[in-house]
Amino acid sequence: MARYTGSVCRLCRREGCKLFLKGEKCYGPKCTVSVRPTPPGEHGQARQRKMSEYGLQLREKQKAKRTYGVLENQFHRYFEEAERQKGITGDNLLVLLERRLDNVVYRAGLGASRPMSRQLVLHGHIRVNGKKVDVPSYLVKAGDVITVREKSAESEYFKGLREGTGKVVPAWMTIDAQNLKVTVDAMPKREDIDLTIQENLIVELYSR
Ligand code: SF4
Repeated sequence: MARYTGSVCRLCRREGCKLFLKGEKCYGPKCTVSVRPTPPGEHGQARQRKMSEYGLQLREKQKAKRTYGVLENQFHRYFEEAERQKGITGDNLLVLLERRLDNVVYRAGLGASRPMSRQLVLHGHIRVNGKKVDVPSYLVKAGDVITVREKSAESEYFKGLREGTGKVVPAWMTIDAQNLKVTVDAMPKREDIDLTIQENLIVELYSR
């Protein structure tokens, strides 16, 4: 399946919540889903009806997929991996998604949104333990150190971040803004992930 290239705000309207795909605009009064909370399309308002159990499960999966910018097949692979792991499958699934390199770059405030962070990784601006990693789905582990390529760090964009990203980073990582260095101190836990996704509905969907 091809990557979605349409309006990302439309995705938020479809899910009825903020997916934070646009950076600064998401936090301001101009956020589209705050201004127009109805589903997209000509009959969006009229389509607001009670959803079936299946519909709710499907929407929850779409919300998680779209939040992390993952395609259908890849998302299903994360689910299979989560099932193989010990513990609660739903928790495992979100933790796997949270460990993606593009998500870590976003959480640390090096990218304004997950889509932007994905681009930073794809374009080779990010190093993991001193080595170039241009794969957004790379899964970080405890002890990994994420930095910005030396040449990229001289750009106006990254120079601005050295003053401090202004972002509160999750408890499982620390950031040295001056050196644009992020250390993964521990693996994230479900309670560290501030998303309102009901992962149990995703598990139910795949267990049908
Ligand atoms: Fe979603 Fe951000 Fe657009 Fe708001 S501004 S609708 S949170 S992508």
